[in-house]
Amino acid sequence: MPPFQYIEAESLDDAVGLLAESGAAVVGGGTDLLPQVRDGIVAAERLVGLGAVPGLAEISESGGGLVIGAAATIADVAGHSGVRRRYAALGEAAGGLATPQIRNAGTIGGNLNQRPRCWYYRSPLIPCLKKGGDRCYALAGNTRLLCVTGGDRCYIVHPSDTAVALSALDARLETAGRGGGRELAVGDFFAGPGRDLQRENVLEPGELVVRVILPADAPERSVYLKVRERESGDFALVSVAAALSFDDSGDGGAVIGQARVVLGGVAPVPYRAVEVEEWLVGRLASGVDPAEAAALVLPNATPLPQNGYKIPMARNIVKRALASLLGNE
Ligand SMILES: Cc1cc2nc3c(=O)[nH]c(=O)nc-3n(C[C@H](O)[C@H](O)[C@H](O)COP(=O)(O)OP(=O)(O)OC[C@H]3O[C@@H](n4cnc5c(N)ncnc54)[C@H](O)[C@@H]3O)c2cc1C
Repeated sequence: MPPFQYIEAESLDDAVGLLAESGAAVVGGGTDLLPQVRDGIVAAERLVGLGAVPGLAEISESGGGLVIGAAATIADVAGHSGVRRRYAALGEAAGGLATPQIRNAGTIGGNLNQRPRCWYYRSPLIPCLKKGGDRCYALAGNTRLLCVTGGDRCYIVHPSDTAVALSALDARLETAGRGGGRELAVGDFFAGPGRDLQRENVLEPGELVVRVILPADAPERSVYLKVRERESGDFALVSVAAALSFDDSGDGGAVIGQARVVLGGVAPVPYRAVEVEEWLVGRLASGVDPAEAAALVLPNATPLPQNGYKIPMARNIVKRALASLLGNE
C-alpha cells in the first residue's frame, strides 16, 4: 500500500479546503477507494474523512421528507424506520447490497461515488480509456457484465444500487465545493461516457456530495428488485427500482398518478425506462397488465456479443416489480 495521510475534517469548510489541494480525495468507509489506492489505480496522497463533520453521519426529518448525511453508513440507511416506511425501494436497495461488513463501513456518499466494476478498469495492468488509455479492452474481451444501452467508447454499468433507488424516488443531492454548493436531481448527477470518459458524474474537482434529500412528495409506493449471481456480496446483473403514486379515479378505483421505473446494470448511469413510465401514468391500476408495460423496456438496446440476456432479464424484473406494487402478482 502506498503511504497516504488521513485527515478527519472538522467542518464542511475544512473539508472543502482540504480537498482543494492536489492529491486529496474524500473518503467514506474506504471499501472502494482503498483497494484502488493499494492497486495503483487511484493515486491519493491525502484522504479526507467526513465522519466528524457535524450532522454528516445523521439521518433526519426535514420538510416532511428525509435528509441523509453523506457519511451515514449504508447499514444506517437500510435500518432507518423512516426509510423503510416511506422510501421502501431505498431501504431494500441498501439492505441487500454487498455484505454486512461493507454495509457497516460503507457510506451513502461512497456508494453513490464508487467507481465502476469493469474488470478491465479494475486491473492495474490494463490502461483502459477510463484511466486515460486509448481503447476499451473489454470490447474484444468479456462483455457479459457490460451495458446494453448508453455506451460510448466505454461500456461500464453504474455499480450503485442506492443510485437506482434514489433516482426512482426523485431524490436530490446537495454538494459543496470551492465554488459554493449546489443541489441537483440524482438523475442529473450521473453522467455517461459521452460527457467524460474518466468520470461517472458531474462533480467538479474538489466538490463532494454532502447530503441526500428525499422529498416529501416522492411516489408513495416503491420496490427494489435485483438479479445477481450470488445472493450476497454481488453486484446487480440487472436491477429495477419502481415507484408509483395513486390518485382517486372518482368512482372508487385508483389511477396511477406518478410512475418511475429505473434500471440498474443496463447502462453507464441509472436508466429511466420512460416509455414504461409514460404508458403507466393515467391508467386505472386494476387494469394494468405488468407484462404489457414491461414489454416496453429498453426499446433501443444494442447489446454486445455476450450480454443480450440482460434485455429479457430487465423486462422480467420490471414485470415482477410492477406486479408487486399493483398487488396482482
Ligand atoms: C465484495 C463487494 C460487493 C459489493 N457489492 C455491491 C452491491 O451489490 N451494490 C453496491 O451498490 N455496491 C456494492 N459494493 C460496493 C460497496 O457498496 C462500496 O464499496 C461502498 O458503498 C463504498 O462506500 P465507502 O463509503 O466505503 O466509499 P469509499 O471507498 O470511501 O469511496 C468510494 C468513492 O467515492 C468517493 N466518495 C466518498 N464519499 C464521497 C462524497 N461524500 N462525495 C463525493 N465522493 C465521495 C471516494 O473518493 C471514492 O472515489 C460491493 C463492494 C464489494 C467489495
